[in-house]
Amino acid sequence: MTAQQRFLVTLLSCVGLAPLAACSADDDHDHASGPSSDQIAAWEDAYEQVELGKVDSSGCSGVVVPDSAGFQRRVALTFDDGPNPETTPQVLDTLKQYGVSATFFINGNRAGSDAAKSVLARILAEGHILANHSQQHLNLKNLSSAQVDSQVRLTHEVLVAAGESRFFFRFPFGSASCSAMNISKSYGYVVTGWHVDSGDWCYAAATGGVGYCHPSTFRYVPDSFRADMVGYTLSQIRSKNGGIVLFHDIHQNTASNLDAIVSTLVSEGFTFVNVNDAATFPKLNGAAVAPSKFVGDSCADHANCTFSDGATAASCHTHGGGGFCTLPCEGFCPDQPGKAPTFCTSLDGGQTGSCVSKSASLNGQCASIPGTSATSVERFVGSSGAAATTAIACVPN
Ligand SMILES: [Zn+2]
Repeated sequence: MTAQQRFLVTLLSCVGLAPLAACSADDDHDHASGPSSDQIAAWEDAYEQVELGKVDSSGCSGVVVPDSAGFQRRVALTFDDGPNPETTPQVLDTLKQYGVSATFFINGNRAGSDAAKSVLARILAEGHILANHSQQHLNLKNLSSAQVDSQVRLTHEVLVAAGESRFFFRFPFGSASCSAMNISKSYGYVVTGWHVDSGDWCYAAATGGVGYCHPSTFRYVPDSFRADMVGYTLSQIRSKNGGIVLFHDIHQNTASNLDAIVSTLVSEGFTFVNVNDAATFPKLNGAAVAPSKFVGDSCADHANCTFSDGATAASCHTHGGGGFCTLPCEGFCPDQPGKAPTFCTSLDGGQTGSCVSKSASLNGQCASIPGTSATSVERFVGSSGAAATTAIACVPN
C-alpha cells in the first residue's frame, strides 16, 4: 500500500465520524472531510433540544441540563473530545492565566500515549475536572447495552487511574437513550449537557470550516456570526446570563479564540464556576431542594418552619399528636399557591391568634396534618377590625 493509499484509508475510516468520533487523535483534525448527514442530524437534534425545547424521543436527554436559568452571570466552561497534546495545553494555558477551572470530557481512546497521559495529569493538577465522554465517541443510542457499558467503563478506568473522583459524563453528540443513561448512572455519573454550544466544531478546519461555519453544516448559526465564533459564543452566553458552555479542545481555532472569549466575559462581569457548583447548578448536582414549609405543614420544632409573613417568623405549634407550622395573626393570614388556604383562629383560648390551614383537599381534609381534625372555629379578630366569622379548619383534637 502506498502512502497515498494509506492516507485515503485513514480518511475514509473517519468520514462520518470526524471530528467528533472514533478517529485517532492524530488524524481527526486538519483534514477537510466534511461531516456526515448523520452527524449533522445529531448536532441539529442537540441544538433543538436545548434551544427549541424539542422533547427527546427517548425521554432521556443527554443534552438538556435540569437547571435552565438563574445563572447570575456565572459560566462553566467544558471541553470535549480531548485530550490533544497540541491544543489542550494551549487551552490550559489560557485557563491558568485567568484562574478558571473547567471540565474536560475526554475520550479514553485518545488518552493512551505518554503525551496524552501527561496532559491528563496537568488537567487534574491545575484544578480542573477530568470527565467521561466515552471511549470512542460513538453514538451510544445505537449500541447494545454491553457495548455502552464497555464505552463507559473503559474511560471510567482512565479517569480513576488518573486520580479523578468526581464523575461527570457527557454523551457523544449529546445523543442518549434511557438505558444508556442508566448504565452511566450505574457508575455514579452525573450526565451533563450544556446551555451554550460555541459551535467551535463547525468553525473548525476539521469540518472544512477554517474559521467559517457553513450553513450546510450547522444551519442554526445566524449569518452574521458565520465567520465569528467568538461573537456567536458571547451572544449566547449573554442571552442566557451564563450557564454551561460547550467547546472542543481538539481544535486550534478553539484554543486560539478562548482568550478573547474569557477576557470579554471577565470585562462584562461574568464569573466562572465549574459544573459541580451546586449553587449554580443545584439540580444537576442533585442537591435536595427541601420543599419550603408553610402554614399547616407538619413540623417537629421551630427550625422546620423557616418562612415568615414579612414581619414575624413562623414557629412550630406542637401538640399531643404532632406539630404544624403557624404564624401569629390578628384577623388575617397569608395564603400560598399550592398550599391549603389559611385562617386566623386562637389556639390558646382567645388570648392570641395563630394561622392554621382550612380543611381542604390539599390537606386531605386535615388528614395530612397529624393530630388535627376538621373543626368549626371562630376567627381571632384582635385589633384587625376584621368581621367575625367561622371556618372549618385543622386544629388539634
Ligand atoms: Zn464530543
